[in-house]
Amino acid sequence: MIKEELLQILGCPLEEDRPPLLQQDGWLVCTSCGAKFPIVDGVPNLLPESAVKSEQKGASNGGN
Ligand SMILES: [Zn+2]
Repeated sequence: MIKEELLQILGCPLEEDRPPLLQQDGWLVCTSCGAKFPIVDGVPNLLPESAVKSEQKGASNGGN
């Protein structure tokens, strides 16, 4: 688990304005572009080359 405080500091490294990331199933997911970053041993890997880019466009809230 990543602490909320840390999540608020982190931001998507693919975008200049660093939009916030959400924790989801062991990934950090960008709320803006939808890119996913793996969390390895509790440490988020925010290297741009580690990003898994989302193909979905438009914001659809998955709910939960
Ligand atoms: Zn992003």
